[in-house]
Amino acid sequence: MGGVRISDGPQRKWLSLALLIAAAGLLGLLLLGLRAGRGPERAQPSAAALPATRAIPILDMHVHLSPRAVPRLLRLMQRYGVERVVNLSGGAPLSGLQEQLDAAAAAPGKIVVFTTLAYEQAAYADYGRRMAELLELAHRRGARGLKIAKVLGLGLRDPAGQLLRVDAPALDPVFARAGALHMPVAIHTGDPEAFWLPVDASNPRRAELQAHPGWALHGKSVPSFDELLQQLEARIARHPGTTFIAVHFGNAAERPRYVAELLRKYPNLFIDTAARIPELGRHPPALLHDFFIEFQDRILYGSDLGVGPEPTPLFLGSEGSRPPTAAERELFFSASRRFFETADREFAHPTPIQGDWKISGIALPRSVLKKIYHDNAARLLGLPPLPAD
Ligand SMILES: [Zn+2]
Repeated sequence: MGGVRISDGPQRKWLSLALLIAAAGLLGLLLLGLRAGRGPERAQPSAAALPATRAIPILDMHVHLSPRAVPRLLRLMQRYGVERVVNLSGGAPLSGLQEQLDAAAAAPGKIVVFTTLAYEQAAYADYGRRMAELLELAHRRGARGLKIAKVLGLGLRDPAGQLLRVDAPALDPVFARAGALHMPVAIHTGDPEAFWLPVDASNPRRAELQAHPGWALHGKSVPSFDELLQQLEARIARHPGTTFIAVHFGNAAERPRYVAELLRKYPNLFIDTAARIPELGRHPPALLHDFFIEFQDRILYGSDLGVGPEPTPLFLGSEGSRPPTAAERELFFSASRRFFETADREFAHPTPIQGDWKISGIALPRSVLKKIYHDNAARLLGLPPLPAD
């Protein structure tokens, strides 16, 4: 993964260029270039993107961070205009949470920590009560939300050996407690619909499933895509006082009309965009544009960036069988902005391993971009919004 190291060289070069221009009295021009994302260190959206890209700082709602990788994360944040991240890999009180909270505390104002469901408690008869108590302990220590991984519904078993349903009544205390503590619940249920299909030439996620045969669900004794979505809906419906963030575009990026129905039905539901821009960009741009306008207050920008200590390869929404190149890293960040900010057609999406098609942008207005990139997440986390333009 040697090629992915982020060097200081270009950064220093950029700084001296900035000073030179400022000294020449061209500060305004510089700011224009900076805000338009045109500095040599910045990703390069298309010309059509420039008016909308004026440096809206991103609050990335969906990052996976190793506690030993904070300096690496901070370099990436600076490079790609990310002001703050939510670390969804915070661990539970008995499994790594304190280390994650300490790592976040070392970078004040940069990292919000969500605790993870205390999965290991599923071995005990009163697992729901135990998980709820550990959630409260995590909150007291500083965790701001709860993350539940797809293992709930697809793999986690109760003491009797039964697959635990997403809507299992025994888990009610966890979701009730999250609501009482004002901790949003970021929940991943199921997987891309194509993971249930045979891995053959007609599977749109063929390359990804060939790189990771273990991700394929075809022929496995797991609930169907639809069954898992029904379980998730039942869970959301049962806790109107709890805020849910259904990650990966409501766990159903293939079905924006379905996700729209859910959002209309459940005001306690938010969604994030993590690792689903490739899928979203395949839909008619006008449909997606209208979706984002209608639900502009409940969509959160998420990247699904995974950062471990070097030389661990970065995780860019998915992964292939080899580490991502520097060019792939640039594309991951730049194509995301290009999707939201431009009306460009047929361009490369952020995560080529997720499918060999091109996507189209949805050209959101700046007021909506500010909400999706930052202010909606800030509101959920009790942080201040961006200043007015
Ligand atoms: Zn994730």
